Formats: sequence, C-alpha cells, structure tokens
Amino acid sequence: MTGSEESAYGGPVPSPLGHALGGLIVAWGLAPNGVRRLGPAPLNVLICIVAGVLPDVDFAWGGHNQQTHSMGAAVMAGGIVFAVSRSPRLAVAAALSWASHVLFDWLGSDDTPPLGVMALWPISSEFYFAHAYFFQAISRRYWLDNFIPHNTWAVAKEAALLGPLAALLLWWKSRRKGNRPIVN
Ligand SMILES: [Zn+2]
Repeated sequence: MTGSEESAYGGPVPSPLGHALGGLIVAWGLAPNGVRRLGPAPLNVLICIVAGVLPDVDFAWGGHNQQTHSMGAAVMAGGIVFAVSRSPRLAVAAALSWASHVLFDWLGSDDTPPLGVMALWPISSEFYFAHAYFFQAISRRYWLDNFIPHNTWAVAKEAALLGPLAALLLWWKSRRKGNRPIVN
C-alpha cells in the first residue's frame, strides 16, 4: 500500500533526474584525478547513476521509502558492486550514490505517512524526515491541470540545485592533470 490515493502527489521525490544527478555528483566527486580521461569509466559513472535512482524500485511493489531507502541497502549495493567488480573504490561510490538517494528523499517532500525514509534499516525501522522540503514532489496525477507546470517546475528546481554542483565538479576535476577514471 502506498496511500498515494490520499497523497497530493504520490510520486518520487526528487525525480529520477535529481537522483541521477546525485549519482553523477558522487561519481565525479570520487574520481581520484579528474574525469577528462573517463575513457573506460563511463560504465562506472553509469553504475553510480543507476545506484542513485534504483532505491525507487520499491514503487514497483508499492512501498516507497522503506527498506530500499536505507543505509543498510546502500551498504548491500556497495557489497554487490564489490563482489562483481572487485573494486573497493567503485563499491564505495555505488554505496554513496545509493545513500545520496536516501539523503535527497530525507530532504525532499512527502505527504504520505509515514513521512520520510527508513534510513537506518535494518538497525531501525523508524522513518526519518527532515521537513526541509528541499526538493519538490513529483506529481503522477496526469489528469490534473497543474500536472505539467508543477512537474516542470519541480524538475527545473532539481536541475538548478544539483546541475551547477555537477558541472562545477566536472570543471574542477577536468582541470587537473593526470586524470584517471574513477577506478582502474
Ligand atoms: Zn526514493
């Protein structure tokens, strides 16, 4: 049950774009010597982007913001990436990308109790919510008049908040010499 019928929006918060930017920021932020020679590393950047977006997979079974939105799930994601890639750096990047999703949803909007995310699962099943409303809720109510303006505004706000940070990281990293991909 999502309770999204009673929810004003019932969508992910922020949108997949915002979460993808979160993964991108982690990937670029952790690239040891810059991203100019990302060469073989786009796959690693993609893994971070996917890890940033994937916690919302719980929409598929109608339980948004539960176990997948937790530090426990972030650690598990890192463990799976490590098992496959044998790269500690990529594993940490994937775990942090996953954790960025939890952070963004904690800072975002929610109007469906229990508010927030199960951030500390499996240690605790309590929900945590910052009440910061840093990101706007994405509406899935396509039949409402304000569907397009509302979502355009919400996504534009995410891009305005996170885009410059991603661009700044890319610029800063790409200026440095001896650039290497995020993992070797
Ligand atoms: Zn989410």
